[in-house]
Amino acid sequence: MFLGEPPPTQADLHFRLFGIPVRVHPFFWVVALLLGMGGRKADPLITLIWVVVVFVSIVVHELGHAFVQRYYGGRPWITLYSFGGLASCDDCDRSPRAQILISLAGPFAGFFFAGFVVSLLVALQRFEGFELDWIPVVWTPFESPPLEIGLRILMFVNIAWGALNLLPIYPLDGGRIARELFTLGNPRAGIIQSLQLSVGAAILVAVYALTRQLFFMCIMFGFLAYGSFQTLREYRNRWR
Ligand SMILES: [Zn+2]
Repeated sequence: MFLGEPPPTQADLHFRLFGIPVRVHPFFWVVALLLGMGGRKADPLITLIWVVVVFVSIVVHELGHAFVQRYYGGRPWITLYSFGGLASCDDCDRSPRAQILISLAGPFAGFFFAGFVVSLLVALQRFEGFELDWIPVVWTPFESPPLEIGLRILMFVNIAWGALNLLPIYPLDGGRIARELFTLGNPRAGIIQSLQLSVGAAILVAVYALTRQLFFMCIMFGFLAYGSFQTLREYRNRWR
């Protein structure tokens, strides 16, 4: 998910995974650290666990996109920065079917990752069941606090963030899927309809977050609603 690519910096970290180039912009670490420290009592160990788990989880998500991009003949690369990641590619298949599957592959890579960890919990006889919550998996808690906290963060990021990412809001994965589906149904007005849906859905999520006192989420979806609204206005002006 998320906007355009930031320009290269000297502090970029570069490596390859399964032949796919990955670049980590320094802001990725800055934002991950700030989010990791927020709300908790800035315990250094917990913050470190948070940063590592978020890093691994976002790489898994972007690899999901990149594998399907490669399946469709593209040459993908991954960029991690500020709020998340981006899987870009050259020669990518722009057909709606390919684009929808590429967008779905990110969140589902996270769901499979969480599913793999759940299967480990089952093997360890610690799995207790599912519930409707931000961390929808219940297990017998581990005595080791770092392990228990790392597991909670892993489930939260891979399941809850993945699910939020599927909401039909720009520039989340769900917003891209909605755009493809709407333009399939109506090539002329599809983009505008998907932007209208994006504004409405983002406002609903922001209001929901406010009622639950999830202020960071409220601000974030408020920004997304505003961004979609601006894009919608630009489209309308262009078509007039
Ligand atoms: Zn994504």
